[in-house]
Amino acid sequence: MQVAFIGLGNMGGGMAANQAKAGRRVAAFDLSEAALAKAAEAGCTPSASAAEAVSGADAVVTMLPAGPHVRQVYAEWVLPNAKDGALLIDCSTIDVESARAVASEAKAKGFAFADAPVSGGVAAAAAGTLAFMVGCDEIDFAGVEEVLQPMARAVIRAGDHGAGQAAKICNNMVLGASMIAVCEAFALAERLGLAPERFFEIASQSSGQCWSLTSYCPWPGPVEAAPSNRGYEGGFAVAMMLKDLKLAQEAAARSGAAAPLGAQAEALYALFDKLGYGGKDFSAILQLIRGKLGELG
Ligand code: NAD
Repeated sequence: MQVAFIGLGNMGGGMAANQAKAGRRVAAFDLSEAALAKAAEAGCTPSASAAEAVSGADAVVTMLPAGPHVRQVYAEWVLPNAKDGALLIDCSTIDVESARAVASEAKAKGFAFADAPVSGGVAAAAAGTLAFMVGCDEIDFAGVEEVLQPMARAVIRAGDHGAGQAAKICNNMVLGASMIAVCEAFALAERLGLAPERFFEIASQSSGQCWSLTSYCPWPGPVEAAPSNRGYEGGFAVAMMLKDLKLAQEAAARSGAAAPLGAQAEALYALFDKLGYGGKDFSAILQLIRGKLGELG
């Protein structure tokens, strides 16, 4: 199978590498030369443009920052150049409307399309253990599953087009709020003279256990793979978390759902972003809550 992979950043780089590792021919494209060079080292073939990458591919996978990038890449390069019968899968986290708009443009040109955002972070992207939440026509799901398999621990069909993105923004609203709750708990434990490592050991085996604590601990030390042990670099950027929390609030406002904790999380991440930390991993918000922004350098 030949796969075109567009968007080789923190997530896409590892995902494309796993496609190559599975023995697939991967035509890779990114605007960043550095990202392209890294993909080449991982066994992908760099393309000169997105149009060139998709032209011979059986499946196209995109992993781009946000809705406007996805709309543009599909309208200008993927849809005009993909070969007949190619399966198009967007794994970026974007708004439900953009996902549905791209799906209907793809359908109008005879392509099957799926929105398939992921959960799991950079470590899971590199390890091939992402969870995919898929919005697509039921008839296309088996093909989508086959394409995503080398990058996945789970591929779940959420429903029709847009349902994958709906699942993702709901999930990330939980993530944003739970990360802040975990950070507040560490800050309080510290003030109370409780060793953070002891608090981690206890809460990770108690009812406070959650992914933000045990897989992505914001306090450096207890979870080796967490960005907190690498100066909060290279994980899931504050600006990306803010984007997802905004998407959730916009969706809540449009649908009439109440999401007050999600609103608080959005406000805190907006403040952190405004203070100049948009490029740090989102777990760095611990230092804002501790009142120790100086530790972020
Ligand atoms: P990133 O900024 O590291 O990567 C995005 C890549 O897209 C960059 O390399 C950029 O050069 C490239 N790009 C932008 N416009 C392009 C274009 N027109 N053509 C080709 N390449 C283009 O972002 P990321 O952290 O990899 O996240 C990608 C998506 O995955 C986002 O939607 C994000 O919300 C989602 N996501 C990220 C994580 C995470 O932990 N980082 C987890 C789950 C989901």
